[in-house]
Amino acid sequence: MKKVVLAFLLLSILLVTCSCGGNTTKKQSDLSDLQSIQSAANSSLSSSSEISSSTVSSQSAVSSKQQSSSENAAADANATVNNVKSENKNIKYINGILIVNKTYGLPKDYNPGVDPTALSAAKKMFADAAKEGLDLYISSSFRSYSRQNTLYNNYAAQDGKAAADRYSARPGYSEHQTGLAFDLNSVDSSFENTKECAWVAKNCYKYGFIIRYPKGKESITGYMYEPWHIRYLGVDNAKMIYNSGKTIEEYFNITSSYAN
Ligand SMILES: [Zn+2]
Repeated sequence: MKKVVLAFLLLSILLVTCSCGGNTTKKQSDLSDLQSIQSAANSSLSSSSEISSSTVSSQSAVSSKQQSSSENAAADANATVNNVKSENKNIKYINGILIVNKTYGLPKDYNPGVDPTALSAAKKMFADAAKEGLDLYISSSFRSYSRQNTLYNNYAAQDGKAAADRYSARPGYSEHQTGLAFDLNSVDSSFENTKECAWVAKNCYKYGFIIRYPKGKESITGYMYEPWHIRYLGVDNAKMIYNSGKTIEEYFNITSSYAN
């Protein structure tokens, strides 16, 4: 009889241990799955040795993280929806060309990043220029609305609004927000006298770019001469604009001026 009781006790202990161990393992694997899903560097759950002592608080931490993670996902989805809405409602296209100047702006949530087609065209252009011993590189590409907001406000504080408006776009009116514009090399007047500048002016249309703010066109484009600022239009459109000798504003007979 004693042996039976002893055997029963031993069996119970074994079962409890197994179940406990199995449970812990499962929790650990759940947690590590969640951690990899969240991929957040700030996880407070990384210490798996403390899981059994703080299972409850860990689990609640996990579920609150899951919640915030799905909230983020929902926010992203909304942003995409808004983006599409914005594109339909507020963005100006002519002949398939996205128009951004002082008259035609972009919504705050228009946030496409660098356009991959424009970027590969630029790289091809740089590679061909390099064969002629020229050194071209991108010094500024895509800028978000908020980045442009910071930049413009700094310039306006430094030089005054009227002066800043000649060389910097107000937030929501920068071509850099399209992801289709690049500033090359030194973004200052020193670029004008380089071989690179001359080469870009002569050849960039072959790669789908135009010099967006040519010399002597400030009253039309709204910006002073910027030989370093190129805008991607695709090869056909760039050729068409280049061969016309006109700016985008002149070619399509549109204005570039702020409403206020
Ligand atoms: Zn620029």
